[in-house]
Amino acid sequence: MSRVCLLLVCIWSLSVCRAYAQNESFAGSSVDLLSDDLLRAPVNMYDKLRARSERGTAQQLQLAFLQHQLGKQAEVSASLSQLKPEAMEDNLGWQTLWYFLRGATASKDGQYEAATTALQTARAHAKAHGNRRLWVLSTQELAFNEALQERFEDAFTLLQDAYNTTAPQQHFELALIEQTLGGVNSYADNYAQALAYYQQALKRYQSLAYPTYIAETLQGIAATFRYQQEWDLALEAYEDYGRALTFQESVGSRFYYHYGKSLTFASSQRCQQALGEIAVALSLSGPLDYVGELFKKQASCAAQIGELALAEDALRNARQILTRSTGLDDTLWHAELIKIESDIALAAGDADRALTLFKRFHDVTQRLHIHKNSERVLALKSALDSARKDAQIEQLTQQAELQSLQLIANEAERQRSMLLMGGAVLILLLLIALFFYQRRRARLLYQLSVHDPLTNVFNRRHAIAIIEEWLNRSSHQHGGFCVLMIDIDHFKSINDTYGHGVGDELLVAISATLTSSLRPSDVLARFGGEEFILLLPRTQIKDAKTLAERVCVDVAQTFIENVRGERLNRTASIGLTNVTTTSDTLHDILSRADSAMYEAKAQGRNRVCVASVM
Ligand code: GH3
Ligand code: MG
Ligand code: MG
Repeated sequence: MSRVCLLLVCIWSLSVCRAYAQNESFAGSSVDLLSDDLLRAPVNMYDKLRARSERGTAQQLQLAFLQHQLGKQAEVSASLSQLKPEAMEDNLGWQTLWYFLRGATASKDGQYEAATTALQTARAHAKAHGNRRLWVLSTQELAFNEALQERFEDAFTLLQDAYNTTAPQQHFELALIEQTLGGVNSYADNYAQALAYYQQALKRYQSLAYPTYIAETLQGIAATFRYQQEWDLALEAYEDYGRALTFQESVGSRFYYHYGKSLTFASSQRCQQALGEIAVALSLSGPLDYVGELFKKQASCAAQIGELALAEDALRNARQILTRSTGLDDTLWHAELIKIESDIALAAGDADRALTLFKRFHDVTQRLHIHKNSERVLALKSALDSARKDAQIEQLTQQAELQSLQLIANEAERQRSMLLMGGAVLILLLLIALFFYQRRRARLLYQLSVHDPLTNVFNRRHAIAIIEEWLNRSSHQHGGFCVLMIDIDHFKSINDTYGHGVGDELLVAISATLTSSLRPSDVLARFGGEEFILLLPRTQIKDAKTLAERVCVDVAQTFIENVRGERLNRTASIGLTNVTTTSDTLHDILSRADSAMYEAKAQGRNRVCVASVM
C-alpha cells in the first residue's frame, strides 16, 4: 500500500517537474499554459489564479493543472467539469491538457481504464499538435497508470520509448523520465535499477539546481532503501530529503518526510521512535489513505510494546478511514487491518483469537492475490506468500497450543497441589483420629487391666498397686489408712445348691452393695473368688470399724431371688487392720487383715475382727 502511495507521490511530484520537459521541436501553446513561473512557484500562482473573479479557458486549465500539482484532486475534477474539450475552439493544446488532467485524475481515483483512454487521447493530441511537453507528461502518467495495475512491462516500454526519443542535452526531460523509471522500478521490486535511475535523475537535477525535484528524488531514494529493508540508509536518505525540503517549505512535503520516517522505524521494529514520528506526521495534514497507513503502523507498534489502549484507538481510526474511503474495501489495506487486530489480540495474550484472525487475514490476502495477479506472478508470489503465511500460521498455532498446554500444566499443577494439600489434611485427620483411637484403646485396656470383669469393681492387681502407692507416700501424706478383708460366708453352698450362675449373680449383688457404701476416695477390689478388699484412705481404725460393721449388716441384707422366688443371701466375715507407718509392708498388711478375717470366721462369721497396730 505504501508503495502505491509512493508511486502517487512520484506522479504528483513529476507533474511539477515534467512541465519543464520542453523540447524545441515540440514547442507549442502549452508553453504559454505551463510557463516556468507557474511551475517554479505553483502555490503563488494557484493563489493568484484563484483570487481572480473571472478566468478564461486557458486560466481555468492552468488552475486545474496547479490543483493537480498541489494534490487537490477534488478541485481538479470540479474545474474540469466546467470545461468541455468540444468547446475549446479546436485549440489542440487546451484539449491535450484537458485530457491529460482527466487521465491523471482518473488514475489517482483508481479508474485505470478511464485513465488509459484519456491519457492515450492526450498523447495522440500532443503528437498531432507537435507538443512535446504534453506528450512526455501524458506518457509518464500513462506509465504510472500501467505500473499501478502492476503491468510493469508496458510501463517500462512506454518510458524506454520516451527515453530513447529524448536528446542527450535535454537534461531536465531525461531527469524526469529517469525519476519515473526509478519510481516504477522501485514499485516492481527492482531496487538496484531504481536506485541507479534515481541517482542519474538526482545528478541532473543538482546540475540544473531545481530544489523541488532534488527533494522528490531523495524521497524516492529513501523509499527504495526502505523497500529494500536497508533501514539505516533509508533514514539517512530521509534526512537528506528533510534538508532538501528547507528550500521548499511546504506542510504537505513535511508530512511525507515524517510519513517516510514513521514507516521506516515501524518496519525496522523501532517502535518507540516510530510512535514518536507517527505522532508528528499525524499532526500534519496528509492524504486520507496515507493517514490511514500511519494509523495502521501506530496500531502495530503500540501492540508490540504493549500499549494496547493506543493500539485499539489507532486501529479504530484506521477502520474509520477505511469506511470513509472508496475503493479500499476488500483490498490488502483491509486485510492488513485484520492482521493488526490479530497482533493486538496476541499482545493481549489471546492466542486463540489471534490465530482465528490471522487465518482470516491469510484467506483474504490469498483471495486478493488470486484476483489481482497475473498467472505468472501469481504462481511465484502466491507460493512464496503462502509458504510464509503457512509458517506464520504454524507459529501462531504452536503459540496457541503452547498457551493451552501452559493452561493445562497450570491446572494440573493446581490440582496436584490441591491433592497434596488434601492428602496432607487427610493424613493429619487420620493421625488425629488414630491418636484418639489409641488413647481410647489404651484407656480401655487400662480399665480392663484394673477391673474385674464380673463385678466391675477393681481387681486384685489394682488393689495391691494402690496399697504400694500409698505406702510409698510419706506417712504424713497418706495420713494412715485402713484395710478391710471381706470374705463371703459359706458361699460354696450357693454354687453347690443353685449353680455357678446364681453364685455369680449374688457376687454381683454383694459388690453393688459394697460399692454403694463407698466414699469417693475409697477403693474396693475383688481380691479372690468370693473375697473383696476395701481400702479406706486417711481413716482411723475406729471409724473403719464402724463402717465395717455397717458393711456386715448391708451384705447380710443383700439378696437375690431365684427362679422359684426364694430369697438367697449370704453374710460376710470381715478382717480389719490399719496402717500408720511407711515401714509397714504389703505382706504384713495383708497377713494382718487375713488373720483378722479368719478370726471372724472362727468366732462364728457375720462379724468384724480387728487387728490394729498403734
Ligand atoms: P467359708 O465361710 O469358710 O468362707 O466357706 P466358703 O464356702 O465360702 O469357703 P470356701 O473357701 O470353701 O469356698 C469358696 C467358694 O467360693 C468356692 C467357690 O466355688 C466359690 N467361688 C469362688 N469364686 C467364685 C465365682 O467367681 N463364682 C461363683 N459362683 N463362685 C465362686
Ligand atoms: Mg474364701
Ligand atoms: Mg467364704
